Amino acid sequence: MAAHDIESIEVDRTKHVFIEFADGVTARFDLAPLRLACPCAECNSRRQQGRSVSVLAETKPDEITITEAAMQGAWGLNLDWSDGHSTGIYAFEKLRGWIDDRLVASHVTRPDPDLETNR
Ligand SMILES: [Zn+2]
Repeated sequence: MAAHDIESIEVDRTKHVFIEFADGVTARFDLAPLRLACPCAECNSRRQQGRSVSVLAETKPDEITITEAAMQGAWGLNLDWSDGHSTGIYAFEKLRGWIDDRLVASHVTRPDPDLETNR
């Protein structure tokens, strides 16, 4: 079992993406930070140039919604956004990395260590 294996995933198109990993860690990703962190090549190059990643300038970050969500094989999540952007694939390994680095994700919970049986 890899740490970024997914137990369950919930997409609320107007609020957040909630993921439970196989090791019991859960995290909520609010949509605006998730959109701004889009890992695709286009957004990466926009960020490197200091430009906004939002394609439609009139879409305010707090108004962003998901228009379509689809699993990308077993390794990631493909999200279409209300600003017209749809090329970002969020690999679960990357989402997990953001959680462990305390980036992007909010409301992270980890399993109670007292419940682990390490005897
Ligand atoms: Zn992107």
